[in-house]
Amino acid sequence: MSTNKPRVLIVDDARIARETMAALLDREGYHLSMVPNAEEALEYLKFMVPDVVLLDVMMPGMDGFELCRRIRQNPLTASVPIIMVTAVDGVDNRLQAIEAGADDFINKPYDGVELRARLRAITHLNRQRQQREVELKQERDRTRAILEAVGEAVVVTDRAGNIEYLNPTAVALTGFRKGEMAGEIWSAWQEQTLPPTLYRQMQEVIQAGQNWRGEGVCQRKDGTYYHAAITVTPFFDPNTPGSTAGFVSVYRDVTALKEAQHLKERFISNVSHELRNPLSVITLLSGNLDNLYDRIDDNKRRQLISEIRKEARSLKELINGVLDISRLDSGNVVRKHTPIDLSKILPDEVEKHRPLAQKKKQILQKFGYVRAFINGNETELRQIVRNLLSNAIKYTPEMGCITCQYLILDERHHQQAEWPGNHKLPAGRWIGFSVTDTGLGISIEEQPHIFERFYRAHHESNLPGTGLGLSITRTLVQLHGGHIYLSSMPGVGSIFAVYFPLLEQNRKEPENAF
Ligand code: ADP
Repeated sequence: MSTNKPRVLIVDDARIARETMAALLDREGYHLSMVPNAEEALEYLKFMVPDVVLLDVMMPGMDGFELCRRIRQNPLTASVPIIMVTAVDGVDNRLQAIEAGADDFINKPYDGVELRARLRAITHLNRQRQQREVELKQERDRTRAILEAVGEAVVVTDRAGNIEYLNPTAVALTGFRKGEMAGEIWSAWQEQTLPPTLYRQMQEVIQAGQNWRGEGVCQRKDGTYYHAAITVTPFFDPNTPGSTAGFVSVYRDVTALKEAQHLKERFISNVSHELRNPLSVITLLSGNLDNLYDRIDDNKRRQLISEIRKEARSLKELINGVLDISRLDSGNVVRKHTPIDLSKILPDEVEKHRPLAQKKKQILQKFGYVRAFINGNETELRQIVRNLLSNAIKYTPEMGCITCQYLILDERHHQQAEWPGNHKLPAGRWIGFSVTDTGLGISIEEQPHIFERFYRAHHESNLPGTGLGLSITRTLVQLHGGHIYLSSMPGVGSIFAVYFPLLEQNRKEPENAF
């Protein structure tokens, strides 16, 4: 049985009438079904929606008009074409059939040619309508899927600004759901929260039926702000040319982009400022050296040269720092991680710094008794240790003491008070390493800023530095899945503690203790 054949349901109480009709339609390629009364017709319609119903008016029990009404009342069968067939001709009958919802009317005795022609026309139209409905549904589903998938917030309103649709991104961005806003007047919310000139400008353009694009600060339901690139597009009423039916507003959240732009501008302005300082000193001192060469003695010349070299070194340090930062910011550097044993790297770096500490008559000590493997990049890990050690030496006066130690933090060590921030660590096993000094310390107010780019504490005015080291250190620590914390007291000293996730290789026996 081909399901593609148009289905015809014949409802007539007289068997001979049903069979006559079936015989007339026999060669027309229909799938014919016959029932003798309204009740059976309704039963059939529960399972199958035909392309057309040929309905006898006069039937015992429920008549054709009533059956026609019932078919129309059921949403599933409401649009099935119905042709009423009756022996009684007359205006009343026709009117009654139309009122009951029939599409066409045929009188008995009917002509076979006419019956076939009417049936062909009506089934053809019905198939076309069904096809259009399927296409419309597909179109609706496709549009909905697109709207649900896009990363932009889409709000559709009617011409008065009442919300008709919000896509999931709009719900996430604005905090509103459809039905949540009082009266759902989106335009009123916009008027209330967008900058007035921006709102006015938008209204002027869209009320003239044109597309509006702009950028502005918008407010969420919870009162917080976001920066959005906005497009509002009117759509028109197809029945009234030129009349706006509603608006589609698209919001792209550009808050993060704006912040990144702002940070970049600040960074560039800071870098230029920081580069200019040593450069102008170098220009000035080398100028002095040039102009006064014959008038100053050897000692003075050497002093000038040494000062020029000091400034050149700080320029080099600054440029290296900026290059490190841009490399880390770009994020597209492939960083290879392998198991690294901190019990090898730490003593190595401590020894490299010993001459520097000795110059300042500082005590430099190290503690750590087990192998300590973490997953990481050796160059970057060494840079972390170097930055912390050189800061400790730099910001600790002569005769001070610097201690570098590491240990595996199990639950017991998590409680140790002298390890800054360890109570904030997520559960699990960590390797902690710390650099403690008896140096200048950092005030409580300055501590939150110490890892920001170019931030330098106010305690030392003449110690050279770029203010980039700790910011680079923190980024490198984070790239290793680690955390860095600080505990410090002005005039007493500082402890910088770094924590890395432990690699299970550490279960092995102690080997290279400090
Ligand atoms: P730099 O040392 O080049 O200025 P850093 O980013 O390494 O830059 O450090 C930022 C600031 O933090 C330093 O200028 C200094 O004020 C402060 N600082 C860093 N380490 C210590 C420390 N061990 N003791 C006291 N202050 C420190």
